[in-house]
Amino acid sequence: MSDNVLSTAGKENIANDTGAVMFACPKCGFEFIIRSSGERKNVTQYTCPKCGFTGPN
Ligand SMILES: [Zn+2]
Repeated sequence: MSDNVLSTAGKENIANDTGAVMFACPKCGFEFIIRSSGERKNVTQYTCPKCGFTGPN
């Protein structure tokens, strides 16, 4: 297993997380936000490292 993809908020390895999602920042569109299935479930907030946008609120 060489892939090591970490979620934006909790730095969880989502390489084997089938419920994880990756999407462009809703505000700046430059950074990709990665959320694990657990973070989605717990509504864990993420912060865009580029523009500081916090979601999912
Ligand atoms: Zn952003």
